[in-house]
Amino acid sequence: MLKPLVVANWKMNPATSREAKKLFEVTKKAAAKARTITLVVAPPALYLRELAKGRAGGRVSFCVQSAEASAGGAHTGEISMRQAKDAGASYALVGHSEVRARGMSNTDAGRQVAAALAANMRPILCVGEAKRSPSGAHFAFVAEQLKAGFEQVPASKLSDIIVAYEPVWAIGGEETMSPREMHEMAIFIRKTIVETHGPKGISTRVIYGGSVNEDNADEMLRDGDVSGILVGHVSVDVARFTALLSTLSNI
Ligand code: PEP
Repeated sequence: MLKPLVVANWKMNPATSREAKKLFEVTKKAAAKARTITLVVAPPALYLRELAKGRAGGRVSFCVQSAEASAGGAHTGEISMRQAKDAGASYALVGHSEVRARGMSNTDAGRQVAAALAANMRPILCVGEAKRSPSGAHFAFVAEQLKAGFEQVPASKLSDIIVAYEPVWAIGGEETMSPREMHEMAIFIRKTIVETHGPKGISTRVIYGGSVNEDNADEMLRDGDVSGILVGHVSVDVARFTALLSTLSNI
């Protein structure tokens, strides 16, 4: 069985490289005790190379929070997937809602997924609706994000991709959606990928993100039909993230 994946999205934190190194040291120690999980840290891109130098025997992997699909050229202020890989990232978040809110389209997400795979990185495609509707329109919304995100993905690469279901309405607080609702969405996500890409679609990992904390992580992993979690604000709070990892030691 795959070890649960825990992705720590530091967002635009911490403020200095010195603080990032300190945070990483503590995170690394907590991860060394949590042998039942695979930890992936997504720091601001500027810190990737420095932190990747201090990784403990390969037990922690790195993820870029956002990178361009183009290999190079006139993209002021951006970085490419290949540059992120060169700096130490082996995973790439694609289509996080905070990036989509700045204008990224479903088509852009599809290109970035393909570029991450071409750079030998594992894309973590983030999908999720801004709000739920009683008519179930959120399922159609997520299906569109998945179809565009997987458009250039051959069946042979389906097991290299991770889908992070992150309902935008659940991000940044203290309460996740219910594991039962996550279970329903996980089935829907796999069904959608199987419909577009055939039976191997079942091999794509599905993880959950949105207000995961030390009190609810364990329940989501047990009952939400997901094989991992994406943790935002709690991942930069040393005490809370250490507590969260220790609750997963019996998973
Ligand atoms: C996120 O932004 O990906 C996220 C999951 O954030 P939070 O844990 O803060 O809800």
